[in-house]
Amino acid sequence: MMKPKYPERVQIAHLPTPVHRLERLSKHLGGPDLYIKRDDETGLATGGNKTRKLEFLVAEALSQGCDHLVTTGAPQSNHCRQTAAAAASNGLGCTLVLRGEEPEIITGNILLDKLLGAHLYWAGERPCNEVMAQVSSELQSMGRKPYQIPLGGSNVLGATSYVLAMEELTEQLQEQRLNVDFIVFASSSGGTQAGIVLGAEIYDFKGQILGISVDHPAEVVQTQVAALATATAAHLGLGQLAIAHRVDVNDDYLGGGYAIVGETEREAIQMVGQLEGILLDPVYTGRAMGGLIDLIRWGAFTRGQSVLFWHTGGTAALPAFADKLI
Ligand SMILES: *Cc1c(COP(=O)(O)O)cnc(C)c1O
Repeated sequence: MMKPKYPERVQIAHLPTPVHRLERLSKHLGGPDLYIKRDDETGLATGGNKTRKLEFLVAEALSQGCDHLVTTGAPQSNHCRQTAAAAASNGLGCTLVLRGEEPEIITGNILLDKLLGAHLYWAGERPCNEVMAQVSSELQSMGRKPYQIPLGGSNVLGATSYVLAMEELTEQLQEQRLNVDFIVFASSSGGTQAGIVLGAEIYDFKGQILGISVDHPAEVVQTQVAALATATAAHLGLGQLAIAHRVDVNDDYLGGGYAIVGETEREAIQMVGQLEGILLDPVYTGRAMGGLIDLIRWGAFTRGQSVLFWHTGGTAALPAFADKLI
């Protein structure tokens, strides 16, 4: 396997994030040995998976002489909050195009966006990408140089950060003499999963990789992830790589839809909080861990196997879902 040629990155994240065992949760569930990779501790204004992506995205913005980051997401977007923080720490302006209308109660990530100095632009019923393009041209006409980041930071640069994260993880597993049979995590815009599957191929990770979809049907996520992983491989100078076979997505836990908290998320968040002292988030990791718990109960794994849950962050959204969580 050729070595990837990584593009420039700025240092934002606190790396490597810890990998550790979930002793009490493993015992409680009586299934496989559970481990966790703590990308909730990447350090950027409460952290999360977008911090890694932003290291490459901000580097490109700076290299192009841009002075303003523009991106989009749901009202409680973790990606938007981390983008606001990355902009602040690199001396850039930031405009966030958020779906729908401004809610009456400002809490969770929206509160943090404002504290971090981002300008919030509510898209109402209009398609966010259209509004993002409009906001960018308005900034240009005011003499600014905006840099547009797609939803979830999921382009080849964003995915590249999770290729590098797989190098980090495989080194940690070697150091700790750990053998991991499965990596499980929440998947949405696909950048994280694309990077992980490509990184698995490059760094010879032998286990299986399972993304738990939080909003889209499995085929949709799978197609997107495979296309992005292929494009990322080409961008890293690796040519054509066959990676589609590694892309596995489960959509059994969509429940009431995106950001609708149900019993699956509630139980997982309380169980992991109360047994491990670790907070999960209501939209992504709560759902993915809820799915993992259900798969364990169904006997999807055998006792000697080990499963690593990749915590992708998002806990800043918890207060916004308080009434659904307790
Ligand atoms: C964005 C996000 C994800 C999903 O990552 P993608 O790269 O968009 O698939 C998972 N968990 C959290 C907490 C997120 O904010």
